[in-house]
Amino acid sequence: MPRFIVNRNAQSNGDHEVHEVDAGCEHMPLPSNQDDLGYHSSCHGAVAKASETYNNVNGCYYCCNECHTS
Ligand SMILES: [Zn+2]
Repeated sequence: MPRFIVNRNAQSNGDHEVHEVDAGCEHMPLPSNQDDLGYHSSCHGAVAKASETYNNVNGCYYCCNECHTS
């Protein structure tokens, strides 16, 4: 299962973006801004986990497109 992180810092639209760690995403936040979400079978589980901490969570357009909604 892939491991996911969420950006501690919100995007300009207020979203905290979820990224898949090993996807080679060019938009990964700096390590100091990554909040570990653990291993999930899909980005949906990772988004749900991140939503326990952050109000506005969205999948990264590039590496979690399936969970990208805004
Ligand atoms: Zn990404």
